[in-house]
Amino acid sequence: MSNYPSIIARPTPTGFHGRYVANDGQPTARVPQLQHLYHRAYRHDLDAMLAFLIDQHPAGWSQLGTDPTADCGWINPLPPIGDRGFRCYCHGDRHEPEALLTKETADPLWHEWIYVLRPGGITVTAADPDGDTWLEPVFVPWSNDARPRIGAA
Ligand SMILES: [Zn+2]
Repeated sequence: MSNYPSIIARPTPTGFHGRYVANDGQPTARVPQLQHLYHRAYRHDLDAMLAFLIDQHPAGWSQLGTDPTADCGWINPLPPIGDRGFRCYCHGDRHEPEALLTKETADPLWHEWIYVLRPGGITVTAADPDGDTWLEPVFVPWSNDARPRIGAA
């Protein structure tokens, strides 16, 4: 069960390396969250932000949060409604193996958005509503004033 499944990723020369995020992947929620992490939690240290999001939690995420220094492991039973913390599939009460998503394995039927985090900002790619292809990517700069402008095909 998930709502707005997405991928969060770092760019590679030929595509991206990313992790699954089961919930809250719609741009109206995810873009401000990533802006907060970049500007506030990581103080523009994109390498540290990607190390946390991609490398240190290789099984991926149920949800992202706002404070990467707080406990981010899975909690059994499911996190309570209103929990805004990071919840991963590899720490806490879950110990799932690495799951890598790439340009080749991403599926617009199962991953509604892809967020590739770059030095200048975020490349946001939305799945076509039919789930059979990707729409044209939209670039959102790292700016506190940036608002998501996604979905205008
Ligand atoms: Zn983890």
